[in-house]
Amino acid sequence: MTTPHFPHTESPSAELKGVSLSYPKGPLVLNGLDWQLLPGQVVGLLGRNGAGKTTLLEALLGLREPQAGTVKMFGQDVLQLNDATRARIGYVPQQSELFEGFTPAQLLAYFRSFYPRWNEAKVEGLLSRWDIARDKPIRNLSGGQKQRLSIIRALAHEPDLLVLDEPVASLDPAGRRDFLRELVGEVLDRGATVVFSTHILSDLERVAFNLAFMSGGRIALQAPLDELLEQVRAFTGTVTEMATLMSRLGAQALKRTPLEAGRERVLARLPAATTVPVDVAADRVNLDDLFAELT
Ligand code: ADP
Repeated sequence: MTTPHFPHTESPSAELKGVSLSYPKGPLVLNGLDWQLLPGQVVGLLGRNGAGKTTLLEALLGLREPQAGTVKMFGQDVLQLNDATRARIGYVPQQSELFEGFTPAQLLAYFRSFYPRWNEAKVEGLLSRWDIARDKPIRNLSGGQKQRLSIIRALAHEPDLLVLDEPVASLDPAGRRDFLRELVGEVLDRGATVVFSTHILSDLERVAFNLAFMSGGRIALQAPLDELLEQVRAFTGTVTEMATLMSRLGAQALKRTPLEAGRERVLARLPAATTVPVDVAADRVNLDDLFAELT
């Protein structure tokens, strides 16, 4: 899959500004979080267990009201969306135990009645391709089949923004990435926005074009995966040497880790299209390093 280049002149599909949210008596899960999702972006939301990914996606969708900040979808306040805007959104929650007594055919017929747009040919194609019995009670489907059905339901009305919370959690490891690629392919050709959360790194390679790292209740960094691998390096030296080096390279320090004897390790992002001078020692980083250091 190659990286598509949609013009990013359109307004954001979703925009969060200064969003803070805590559960009763709990600490802040979202802490002044800013985030933008643009048309045509496929974003993997990455964070450790408990980092707040589900909370963030629920706040994004207006299912949880933050104590501070604003959340907009297609330019509208998410707590006051009109039906037309609502119909542009697709959501696959982590788990839903609803509709267990329905069959897939009944479930889809029920949802079809809510949407002005509904692609029946796509639904039929996906049911066959993903091997889901149309007339078996949903409670008798496997966890993976239920998850796929939930995804078909969310794709059927061809949303402009598709939000998936751990969409492949119930699938076996071998199938996860291939399935995600297929899923992303389904929506990309329309220039839609896709955001999915995961804590499994192998899901992201060649699937997510953009990675959003969640840490400390914020999006610590968001950038295309290939740019990160190209531009992020790890440097080691004394604190003074590192300060000098960062300004010489015009690099942005992402994470500093103190070492012994006044030395530190700095993970830094170089400006686009620059190279590290030959006299400077720098280590390339992989996705595992980025996850370990940024989440
Ligand atoms: P993630 O999806 O990254 O694993 P969550 O958003 O599920 O993270 O959880 C973030 C934090 O909020 C965790 O500490 C979790 O225990 C807490 N939390 C999540 N949901 C609730 C809830 N309904 N009530 C109280 N605390 C919650």
